[in-house]
Amino acid sequence: MIYILGGGIAGLLLAEKLEELEVPWQLWERHHAPNLNKEASARNAGIIRSYEADPVAAALAQQALAYYHNREPSFCNCGIALVPWEVNYAEKYHECRLYHGKVGIFLDQDGTVEPQQVLLRLRTKKYRHGTLQFGLEGKIAVENGVAICHSNGQKSSREDSIVVACGEGAVKIAFRLGYDLGLVAHLRTLYEYKNTAGFKGPVQWDEETSCYFRVSGETLTATAGEQIPQPLDQERGEIEADPQAPQKIEQVFGLNPLDIVSWRSCRRLMAPDHRPYCGRDPRIANLYWLTGLGGRGMSIAPALAQLLAQQIVFHKTDPLLEFLTPARVLG
Ligand SMILES: Cc1cc2nc3c(=O)[nH]c(=O)nc-3n(C[C@H](O)[C@H](O)[C@H](O)COP(=O)(O)OP(=O)(O)OC[C@H]3O[C@@H](n4cnc5c(N)ncnc54)[C@H](O)[C@@H]3O)c2cc1C
Repeated sequence: MIYILGGGIAGLLLAEKLEELEVPWQLWERHHAPNLNKEASARNAGIIRSYEADPVAAALAQQALAYYHNREPSFCNCGIALVPWEVNYAEKYHECRLYHGKVGIFLDQDGTVEPQQVLLRLRTKKYRHGTLQFGLEGKIAVENGVAICHSNGQKSSREDSIVVACGEGAVKIAFRLGYDLGLVAHLRTLYEYKNTAGFKGPVQWDEETSCYFRVSGETLTATAGEQIPQPLDQERGEIEADPQAPQKIEQVFGLNPLDIVSWRSCRRLMAPDHRPYCGRDPRIANLYWLTGLGGRGMSIAPALAQLLAQQIVFHKTDPLLEFLTPARVLG
């Protein structure tokens, strides 16, 4: 049996992959609805992008894009217009002129999903080889070198494998195991504007300011992309947005702060080298980590789920996993 702790995009896609391999699995998610929608996987912008300056992230993103193209009904292939600041993007892609007068590139394979619809599809799917259990917060103990997870009277056995796919919850689990994952949290706030006039697809991303926007139905979602490190040693309540952000968006995109109808904030987790942790624990043989997906978790989680499932089930170590191994901080 493979136990997955965490029912965000990372845990759910791993469950789906194990299901395809017909391997028994159980997923524990600490929240019941409606708190399910407070986590990063439900609050993000849903931009599925194939470009990355880091070649490892680029390989993951390219693989994952096919998943949304083929499987996700809410995927919209609107493309992404990007003002590059990494020179190597421009060598790879065709140039185009953006709406705001800057020369950039257009990525025609990329697009958007509706994050809550992706989660709903995965959470309500019929599974034969495993079940999703809500309201179970997994804890991990190590008994004679073997990890055991437990919650509300349920417990794994020594033969089982455990995957920590808990987002920020991984920090707490690591701490109790005597580990420091070295993760940093950045606050991001998304603002929804009622005025979409003049803005149609593609998604626009201004890498110099880290501002972007996308249109979804009657709403325009924009973010100023503030990256404010937050302490990770405390439980998160409702997060305050950066008060300067609407002015920054106004400067970049000309959007009027008075048109904001709602906003949502969340944190994204980054490892020091900005690569996720995906793979076997260096010391505990039946424990795996899948966390620290950063600002690109929706885009790369399908590829990570595929790599990790292969490692757990077939003991296959794809060369990419060497760059993602948790041993780079836990070893
Ligand atoms: C504002 C914002 C915008 C973003 N925009 C994009 C974007 O456009 N494109 C993109 O690709 N990425 C984007 N991201 C990044 C993306 O949202 C994240 O990388 C991704 O959602 C992380 O998924 P996760 O499953 O690892 O973590 P989470 O979504 O945090 O899920 C972890 C789950 O584990 C549960 N959990 C925690 N502890 C336990 C425990 N002990 N036992 C059981 N369950 C537990 C939590 O309740 C939660 O449901 C954005 C992030 C933010 C914050």
